[in-house]
Amino acid sequence: LAAVLERVVGPAHVLVEPALITPYTVDWTRRWQGPAALVVRPATTDAVAAVIRLCADAGAGLVVQGGNTGLVGGGVPPRESGGRPIVLLSMRRLDDLSPVDEAAGQVTAGAGITLARLHEHLAEGATGWAFGVDLAARDSATIGGMAATNAGGIHVVRYGAMREQIAGVEAVLATGAVLTRLQGLTKDNTGFDLSGLLVGSEGTLGVITRVRLRLVPMRPVRVTALLGLNDTGQAVDLVSGLRREVPSLEATEIFYPDGLDLVCQHSGLGPPLARRFGAYLLIESAGPDEGVMEELAEFVFRLGLDDDASAVAAGGPGRMHLWAYRERHTEVVSALGVPHKLDVTLPLKRLAAFESAVRSRVAAVAPGAMVVIWGHLGDGNLHVNVIGPPPEDDTVDDAVLRLAAGMGGSISAEHGIGRAKVRWLSLNRSPAEIEAMRAIKTSLDPAGLLNPGVLLPPSAPTR
Ligand SMILES: Cc1cc2nc3c(=O)[nH]c(=O)nc-3n(C[C@H](O)[C@H](O)[C@H](O)COP(=O)(O)OP(=O)(O)OC[C@H]3O[C@@H](n4cnc5c(N)ncnc54)[C@H](O)[C@@H]3O)c2cc1C
Repeated sequence: LAAVLERVVGPAHVLVEPALITPYTVDWTRRWQGPAALVVRPATTDAVAAVIRLCADAGAGLVVQGGNTGLVGGGVPPRESGGRPIVLLSMRRLDDLSPVDEAAGQVTAGAGITLARLHEHLAEGATGWAFGVDLAARDSATIGGMAATNAGGIHVVRYGAMREQIAGVEAVLATGAVLTRLQGLTKDNTGFDLSGLLVGSEGTLGVITRVRLRLVPMRPVRVTALLGLNDTGQAVDLVSGLRREVPSLEATEIFYPDGLDLVCQHSGLGPPLARRFGAYLLIESAGPDEGVMEELAEFVFRLGLDDDASAVAAGGPGRMHLWAYRERHTEVVSALGVPHKLDVTLPLKRLAAFESAVRSRVAAVAPGAMVVIWGHLGDGNLHVNVIGPPPEDDTVDDAVLRLAAGMGGSISAEHGIGRAKVRWLSLNRSPAEIEAMRAIKTSLDPAGLLNPGVLLPPSAPTR
């Protein structure tokens, strides 16, 4: 298989040496890993189609990978593949990027383009258009991976997740057939929304090769504020007011004093506010002119917070400094051990109750474990990180996911199901829904070639 794949992509892009393969077979958290027979790195849609056909002929399974920043193990091979060889299909070389279609406010990006490169491309073009999604893994996460996981991030409160930005995709199915829906038509009611089906399918239905993206107006003036609050309940109330009264609102991020202490210890940053608070809310507004500052400043003033309970930055290094307190949480937690990362959404009115219940629940099932929480508050999305239990022990995962589902929430807000949460899919999806998803998978990929073991449970679901 390696020899025939070399003829398609060139010898430099078929990796068989264990030392070269390992970075692709271990995920970002180090919790998920599995063996691959080889890594193949095509650079075009036709080459992806040829690779898929050759792997199907050889009876090999394919695991699709973009930037390998997914946190649920979907982009790395399974620990056990039942004797079937696994080929890791790296999409990073599909990195073409069209000029901005200024009339439509759209751009077409290769699946391997990183989010940071897309943002740069739009800034360089100076067309007045920007991309509505941003997240901390921007330097590595790819547009294909973000589409496949329907990634969310820090601007969902204003622009929605990836699904809302996608006007169409090009993808290769398990048969090697290519679907191309890149016209970017705003209105096009000609049958099933195949692009929509592929978004969020986590590489199980097809390999996304290009994405037609909707853009949003560039909003050059940004103002960021970090507020010290008593608790989650106060933060939820405040965000509700912000969403009603501050139309320029783009981000509402929450974190807590224990996480902030870790960030300060590990990064050398000093504390952002003069005293300690029960919860910290990072908010950001963006607009075309200075009016955005007045809008946010007025809102913050009306809150009547103590003088030492807020820090404000209008763009530049000050803004990056405030964001560092939030964005460095992920790396700091990973430096402490292999985290159990539980990304859940709750109805906003139950978020505060969940935040306190989850701490007690983890303490009960994993005494001594460290819990660090942060999240995208306006979306009801908390990232519960637990450090201490061994990677293979999923007791804490079970407790947290059941608690979230039991309170009316989702076991995956934005990272997807991957391999990590397959066991719990039935907490959120009915047997009828899982069977419908399985029917779609079986009809598009009857041999189970693409991402085996990701997203769908192997047999009849149990509650
Ligand atoms: C520091 C950090 C911060 C993060 N913040 C956020 C956040 O705010 N919001 C959020 O949603 N996520 C976040 N993530 C998770 C991650 O960045 C996203 O899930 C992202 O969408 C993954 O993109 P990727 O290219 O790395 O995909 P990978 O990790 O390579 O793959 C993810 C899944 O998509 C599939 N896939 C990848 N490329 C393709 C393709 N071309 N076609 C079909 N399937 C494909 C894979 O098989 C896998 O199932 C964060 C991760 C890190 C490390």
